[in-house]
Amino acid sequence: MKTVVLKFGGTSVGSIDRIKKVCKIIAFYKKKKNKVVVVSSAMSGVTNELVNKSKLISSNFDRAEYDALVSTGEQASCALIAGRLKHNGFKSRSWTSWQLPILTDGPHSSARISSVGIKELNIITGFQGVSNDFRITTIGRSGSDATAIMLAKFIKADECIIYTDVDGVYTTDPRQYKKAKKIKKIFYDEMLEMASLGSKVMQPTSVQDAKLNKIDIKVKSSFVSKSGTLITGSKKTFSNQIITGISSTKNDAKITIVGVKDRPGVAASIFRPLSKNLINVDMVVQNISQNGKETDLTFTIKSEDLKKTERLIKKNKSISYKKLSFDKDLSKVSIIGVGMITTPGITYRMFQALASKKINILVISTSEIKISVLISSKSVKKAVAVLHKEFKLD
Ligand code: ASP
Ligand code: MG
Repeated sequence: MKTVVLKFGGTSVGSIDRIKKVCKIIAFYKKKKNKVVVVSSAMSGVTNELVNKSKLISSNFDRAEYDALVSTGEQASCALIAGRLKHNGFKSRSWTSWQLPILTDGPHSSARISSVGIKELNIITGFQGVSNDFRITTIGRSGSDATAIMLAKFIKADECIIYTDVDGVYTTDPRQYKKAKKIKKIFYDEMLEMASLGSKVMQPTSVQDAKLNKIDIKVKSSFVSKSGTLITGSKKTFSNQIITGISSTKNDAKITIVGVKDRPGVAASIFRPLSKNLINVDMVVQNISQNGKETDLTFTIKSEDLKKTERLIKKNKSISYKKLSFDKDLSKVSIIGVGMITTPGITYRMFQALASKKINILVISTSEIKISVLISSKSVKKAVAVLHKEFKLD
């Protein structure tokens, strides 16, 4: 008997009609004599509504009560699923996290699952757990993915399938670029890069959980019956594609501080107030100083943080500089693929392709499996198209 974990996202259970459809998918696996464990998100929109209510009650809503509140969405969707399955003659029951229990460590609203008590598992609330002192916890927005993955680990499931509203992970956003192709298999590391660079199919921390625990994930659509994408660490039957995907961001901004002192501690002094104010800094480049005394420092942030960052730099007494300059309406376009570790010349091909379309590169950053360039947002479509073609993803 195979054990399968099926996870359904908010849109998959977004209406009564959708819940009935999802129960047909569950029935399909049950009829094949699988042991089926279901993890569900709240019906789409419900969690947001609860979050908004908490804000109306208090601008400083208690974090433990926040978790108690937002976790209720999943209890409702799970009861509806279990009730429908019973209506259709299946044995079924919903479980909330404290009944199993799903134990968590760490702070409210970003706890991590540490163990799952194994009872007669059936329809289980995603996104939540219980702390050692019996308080309900939640594990971060979109956390039901992680619930499914950790359950698959603790019950040693044979398969973990994430049902969502898209039919898999694509080489680039199919709404932006018509020739985007569904990826059959993608490595955890590539998926992590794609997820943090703008592809919203999976929650990044859950991909991290899957990687650490070696859980293969299948991403499929609950709306159409099509083969999905496998996220895995296994090297078996991977194609020799060098680049797996291309992602792009929106609303990036760039700040250059010209003529800062080139001595130890200056970069730290610049970024300390930004970090204290929770401003996320992304790409950072510092020039080699020509005279050994001064240097220019460039970094990127989200456009919405631009005003605040400008203020923080201007009132930072611990640094001196000659000039500040700002740019917005920028985007980061990245090519991702483990194949680049072993293939020379990828950087050149990327830059040459962009040059052929007269796209100016403002900032470059790289990791082992990714090359990112910052360009004008106006050129993103063109850049994605030319890179998709260059790396034979069309
Ligand atoms: N319902 C939660 C959220 O909207 C968890 C999830 O959907 O995975 O964030
Ligand atoms: Mg969700």
